[in-house]
Amino acid sequence: MSSLLVVEDDEKIGSMLLSALESAGHETTWERLGAGALDAATTTPFDLVLLDLGLPDVDGIEVCRRLKARQPGCVVVMLTARHDEMDVVVGLESGADDYLIKPFRMAELLARVRAHLRRAAPAPNAAPIACGDLSIDLVARRCTVQAREVVLRPKEFDLLVRLASPPGAAVSRDQLIADVWDRNWFGSTKTLDVHVAALRQRLAQAAELSTPAAAVPAITTLRGHGYRLD
Ligand code: CA
Repeated sequence: MSSLLVVEDDEKIGSMLLSALESAGHETTWERLGAGALDAATTTPFDLVLLDLGLPDVDGIEVCRRLKARQPGCVVVMLTARHDEMDVVVGLESGADDYLIKPFRMAELLARVRAHLRRAAPAPNAAPIACGDLSIDLVARRCTVQAREVVLRPKEFDLLVRLASPPGAAVSRDQLIADVWDRNWFGSTKTLDVHVAALRQRLAQAAELSTPAAAVPAITTLRGHGYRLD
């Protein structure tokens, strides 16, 4: 699961962002001040930060600079109400990866976040996902059961990671297609069925090969909705 930080002093915008990001499945921390954001960044690795430039304590540009110094791999998206182009230029020079001008549409923001996270390599210290005896190493893109590798094709791996983020959560077909393929995917949704079938087979094989018998998760079909990794 990706870990996000929202730095926003406006209560209304902050709570809107938090609920939208959490509904989209992102673990999200909210800091209202620049100092708090920088403190949080010393202890928690973040995949992406949504950073309001107009903060009451530290200037957003300065927060961006220090955030990037602490976590160079973290994506920073600036949120600015300032229409001054200079702010955007200075912001991007300070290391920000992207920006959105307020007011923005939530759908647009979520799409940008998704695109950035897809591009971003997993943090070098990203913990493996454990699901029963199945372990998914995001950094090495390796999946193992009792230290035996389960060989997956790239999209099967992506699909498994999405289903396992977190394990046990229902994921709709639309969401899977958007996250694993593309939100603008116009191809047949049959692709998803084919990959789910292949992944099921590989998981079943891994379970069969394990001695002693390992707890390998199975993909449950949720009729009219999608799938769940149980
Ligand atoms: Ca503000």
